[in-house]
Amino acid sequence: MQRIALDPMRHALAVPIARAAGTLSRRLGRGGGTALPGKVVLRLSPRAVEHLGAGLRGGTVCVSATNGKTTTCRLLAAALTCDGSALVANPAGANLMSGVAAALMAGRRGRPRPDRALFEVDEAALPEVVRQLRPHALVLMNLFRDQLDRYGELETVAAAWRRMVDDLPPQTTLVLNADDPAVADLGRRRSSVVYFGVDDPTVATREVSHASDSTRCLVCAQPLEYARVTLGHMGAWRCPSCGDARPAPTVRATRVSIDSTRGQSIEWATPRGTASATLTLPGVHNAYNATAALAAALTLGVAPAAAATAMGRAGAAFGRGERIRVHGRDLVMLLAKNPAGANTTVRTLLGDRDPLHLLVALNDRTADGQDVSWIWDVDYEPLLDHIDVLTVTGDRAHDMALRFVYAGLPRERVRVVENPSRALDAALAGVPDDRPLYVLPTYTAMLSLRAELVRRGVAREFWRDA
Ligand SMILES: [Zn+2]
Repeated sequence: MQRIALDPMRHALAVPIARAAGTLSRRLGRGGGTALPGKVVLRLSPRAVEHLGAGLRGGTVCVSATNGKTTTCRLLAAALTCDGSALVANPAGANLMSGVAAALMAGRRGRPRPDRALFEVDEAALPEVVRQLRPHALVLMNLFRDQLDRYGELETVAAAWRRMVDDLPPQTTLVLNADDPAVADLGRRRSSVVYFGVDDPTVATREVSHASDSTRCLVCAQPLEYARVTLGHMGAWRCPSCGDARPAPTVRATRVSIDSTRGQSIEWATPRGTASATLTLPGVHNAYNATAALAAALTLGVAPAAAATAMGRAGAAFGRGERIRVHGRDLVMLLAKNPAGANTTVRTLLGDRDPLHLLVALNDRTADGQDVSWIWDVDYEPLLDHIDVLTVTGDRAHDMALRFVYAGLPRERVRVVENPSRALDAALAGVPDDRPLYVLPTYTAMLSLRAELVRRGVAREFWRDA
């Protein structure tokens, strides 16, 4: 009884205190101050997200996956705001409970708070965020092995997601990737599910890559068969043993035309008609991100053609295929933080012509995962014949150099420059004016290289990159 009375009061006091902490942090020049107010409010009011989210009547969407959260949210935000309406959203990187709380607290002076919200949520933080927020739509895209030392294993996250889905309120619509067996399985016992998938065989490969994670049947544990594989363990799967199979997607990318590393055109079939868009995002992984965003936009009532047009106008999210003009050349930042993401990046790069100019940056800080053994699960080998000189940098630059030398790149063609700023200059110096420098960083390496580009005045801080 006492708790029920105390909780709203506690919450009412917590919000202004947390806001003041955020303002102070920004005035002291401590970065964007994006996470601090959220941390403070949760310390004072652990159910803050439930309280703050209660007024969102226009629809709340949560997006989670191992790879593609940030880009999908960027595309979906463009679709959801294409009629001029406003949206509450968390900035990329602030995707734990504290980031969601901070976004819900942040208001623009003199303007009413939007009543629709979109949150990118970390896979492990998702169940608790969903429990408090009870979203209208929950978009789940893929599960790959990532940051082993943080999560233990993929199966832990998958099991937590299964329990989360069992407890969802009936009004939550699940938007699920039909092509990822573990994600598709989550819709088995739900009535309100929208499946999406990529149906163009021209972007499929023949076999499941060895870095693939879930290739066993969720029902009978026998190995799955694939009529085609689009990415890692994703594709047209079925179990020859029990007959379980990929559900028919209702939102499908029917045609995906990838234009080397510059972008792609996609055509979709949906229950509300066809749509198409040209995106400045390369790679088949981005075809999945865009298809997920389109399916979610439809779920929230946006017409497919309008959503697709808006997505076509959205650029790349920071560090994810972002193109930055620096010293007269294009630098393309392709975040590669786990085997699945790195393999996708390798495949994307093979679409460009030779020689490739690469800077690979490997860190082992908390947000990267401290175990860098994952680089041995990446198929870098197909790149070797296309690289002139490779520059490696970061805390674990020597591990990355060893990986490429072991793959067969001659030692004299690998340049190790531990300092990221100097590595950037060294890599750029060898790039002709008409060719891009591709940068493949882990998460914190991407942040530090980007911070360097901001210092040089050629990029904007990511928290200003709305
Ligand atoms: Zn089976």
